[in-house]
Amino acid sequence: MNIIFYSTNKFDKGVFEEESKDKHKLKFLDVQLNPETVFMAKGADAICIFVNDDASAATLEKLSEAGIKYIVLRSAGYNNVDLKKAKELNIKVARVPAYSPYAVAEHTVALMLALNRKLIRANTRVHDLNFSLDGLTGFDMNGKTAGVIGTGQIGQIVIKILHGFGCNILAYDVKANAEIIQKYNVVYTDLNMLYQQSDIITLHTPLLQDTRYMINKSSIEKMKSGVMLINTSRGALVNTKDVIAALKTGKIGYLGLDVYEEESKLFFKDHSDDILQDDVISRLLTFKNVLITSHQAFLTETALKNIAETTVFNLDCWEKNIASPNEL
Ligand code: NAD
Repeated sequence: MNIIFYSTNKFDKGVFEEESKDKHKLKFLDVQLNPETVFMAKGADAICIFVNDDASAATLEKLSEAGIKYIVLRSAGYNNVDLKKAKELNIKVARVPAYSPYAVAEHTVALMLALNRKLIRANTRVHDLNFSLDGLTGFDMNGKTAGVIGTGQIGQIVIKILHGFGCNILAYDVKANAEIIQKYNVVYTDLNMLYQQSDIITLHTPLLQDTRYMINKSSIEKMKSGVMLINTSRGALVNTKDVIAALKTGKIGYLGLDVYEEESKLFFKDHSDDILQDDVISRLLTFKNVLITSHQAFLTETALKNIAETTVFNLDCWEKNIASPNEL
């Protein structure tokens, strides 16, 4: 098959070429998919897209006109694809349901520890030959209560790690997982209780109609003063303006983000020579207790290899005219 890759980073090319081994013809573009960039896919059989590519109805109509029959997502999340429209247009869509939940879970905990122990600030200080410890006091994770929202593949691993630290775990999910109750003494509760009792809150639910902006003024009001909030799931789970208001009063004491609701205009690109136009992220960047990474939680060698393997498998299935188990 001929496949056009949108939004590719340097690290994608090698791993996909290695996995495809000349079975498919791959062309890598660094531009994002949107209605204006569809023309670049003309002549291809399939496109491969990532989390910030726009596969809305308008884009899909144009892709269909351009003769694209298949879309492979090199991600687990698919909130950027209008699946109903794709079905209507007879465009098949497949994703990588699991590539390394460990990668995302470990990055989540890295954000917690870096924020708690103020590692970024400490490192900057030491490089400036300032060896003072003032302002660097952290807290013991042991004995703290962590509230985990979403106990799927990633949430479960976060729970396992935090249980290892000696945290008490509260969890919320639309369906409880009996195994983690048993193994890690997880207590499933409603969201109100989780907000009220947690020292750390970490989000691992998909972005859906009913999870959009679940962290907002009213949910933040229920939280402990000085709470740590971590989001490595999807940016729009959090109302960023409400979070900024809570950072200003100290209600939120620590904020770790790997995702941001307006990330598609910024993340994965070098904007260091540009004038920042996004006033919301610009305000976030003024807080010392905010740590932001640009959607890199998935980025480990293991995850990249697994993503490439499953994506090529999805394409192989379609080439042989069989359904992939990863179709949406
Ligand atoms: P998963 O499907 O295994 O788990 C999601 C869990 O959320 C499930 O247990 C499900 O029951 C629960 N859920 C669904 N609706 C809910 C609701 N309304 N309220 C509470 N819980 C609800 O998914 P996963 O692999 O654990 O991934 C979780 C999320 O992480 C993905 O949806 C994706 O957005 C995000 N993600 C981020 C990165 C990154 O690099 N930052 C990488 C992969 C995934």
